[in-house]
Amino acid sequence: MISIHDHSGIEALRKRLRIDPQALRRLRGAFLRTFRGAESALEELPSAERVEFAGAVRFHDLELAEVQDSKLDGASKLLFRTADGRAIESVILRIKTGRTALCVSTQTGCAGGCLFCATGRLKGVRNLTTAEILDQAAQAGERLRGEGRPLRNVVFMGMGEPFHNEENLHAALEELWGRNGFHLSDRHLLVSTLGIPDAMRRLAHRFPRVGLALSLHSVRQEIRDSLMPLTRRWPLSELRAAVSELNALQDHPVMIEYLMLGGLTDTDADLAQLVQWLDGLRVHVNLIPYNPGMAGDTGEAAIRPSPPERLEEFLAALKRAGFRATRRHSLGGDIAAACGQLARRREPGA
Ligand code: SF4
Repeated sequence: MISIHDHSGIEALRKRLRIDPQALRRLRGAFLRTFRGAESALEELPSAERVEFAGAVRFHDLELAEVQDSKLDGASKLLFRTADGRAIESVILRIKTGRTALCVSTQTGCAGGCLFCATGRLKGVRNLTTAEILDQAAQAGERLRGEGRPLRNVVFMGMGEPFHNEENLHAALEELWGRNGFHLSDRHLLVSTLGIPDAMRRLAHRFPRVGLALSLHSVRQEIRDSLMPLTRRWPLSELRAAVSELNALQDHPVMIEYLMLGGLTDTDADLAQLVQWLDGLRVHVNLIPYNPGMAGDTGEAAIRPSPPERLEEFLAALKRAGFRATRRHSLGGDIAAACGQLARRREPGA
């Protein structure tokens, strides 16, 4: 069967069945832009070709196994199963302002191995296909349509390091903002990375309006190396040079994600060095309160949250130094959907 996201395969089928290109365009619009679902979208085709087209095309690459709705806020976790039996998660974020965002996964786990992240402890990581990435948006969009909420933002902050699956990431981004795809604004797309300088540059060159969030967390090399072992190969000076290049290519600031860990990333020295590191860069600093669920059962005793008042001091100091800075309010803490918690706590269908 051909995935609905496989353009060349679908075009070959269209030619074989002699379907009018306009009818196919309407079907894609109904499925990807207005999220009417496969059955309703198929009505855009003439009835003579509809059955054969439906029999040859796969509209979904993931099986939605379970939905967990937060009782605290507007988050819902979607637990999917892939055709080869892997479990992945996406999170719908219904933000108070009325905006609706979807956090998607790009891998079935992550080789990043960050100490504070549950996803990094999963074994047997594989890259998701472009169709598997896009189906998270298609299924979430359909769900949200039923609530009368349009899906506006897609953030690549779920399971996996997006740049470890760069080819499929780029293909998914093309489809998310392409006129013939989901047609979202590229300004409403955001990719979060642990910081791979060359991949950051490639993203900014190809998608200058797509946002980038850098998980910085510390500008002390030894601390960052211990928190995020995979980042050892890219010294902080190289990372800073990449952010500076991105600033020259993009008209929006780079989002700096900074996890507030007691004694590790929140000392006066950390603050002074962070201000120095950021000096001259166009950034928006997002301070992330450490979520106790992140460490799970790894026994990472060194990892503990900063006191809330320390976070406020950091925030105020960064603002005084002239930076845009905010505190992240994670949603879905009660369903393990907050940052760093996506780790198949419960296998779909279990
Ligand atoms: S924080 Fe990101 S890069 Fe690090 S292990 Fe988790 S998913 Fe991977």
